[in-house]
Amino acid sequence: MREINLLHPDLQTKCNRLIDLAKSKGHNIIITQTLRSKQEQDDMYAQGRTKPGKIVTEVKYPRSMHCWGLAFDIAVLLNGLVTWDTKFYDQIGPLAAAIGLEWGGSWKSFVDKPHYQLPGYDVDDLIKKYGAPEKFMKSWEGINVPGFEGPAKVIFKGKELSAGLLEGRTYVEIRALAEAMGLKISYDNATKTVTLS
Ligand SMILES: [Zn+2]
Repeated sequence: MREINLLHPDLQTKCNRLIDLAKSKGHNIIITQTLRSKQEQDDMYAQGRTKPGKIVTEVKYPRSMHCWGLAFDIAVLLNGLVTWDTKFYDQIGPLAAAIGLEWGGSWKSFVDKPHYQLPGYDVDDLIKKYGAPEKFMKSWEGINVPGFEGPAKVIFKGKELSAGLLEGRTYVEIRALAEAMGLKISYDNATKTVTLS
């Protein structure tokens, strides 16, 4: 499946942010996979083992972060067509760190350059805590912020910035706004202070 709204709520935001950030650097990317069903993971695992083709996954259901809605894969478009030229993926991968994403291209074994995931999750812990992905997804419902009325659109000099409506006010991600305005942004975690200069 390739719908962004099937991902963990935090990852939906980060996925859209990666698309925007890549675009701002001149790269057009599409999302080729988000949440992976049991059938999809079983089919992938069979490839290169009991079915023809090259091995594409090391893990069985539900041991992939895709099965938990915690990962997505991208493809880079060049003149409207998908390219697998790794030089583009190597340019996009390092953008992930600023968004708080883990890039599969930075892994030491089974390097996976089109792959991005939400850091801080361990599949053994997920299985122990939730048993199955369906139960984990149920826990996402609590993530919705009270008073959140949905996404909004902010246009700054023709550039669209993602925003949201909370209790009648429009909130825009300050980093995206600062970048659009050409300002330098720094953040001090100790004092939770954002400085624009
Ligand atoms: Zn992946």
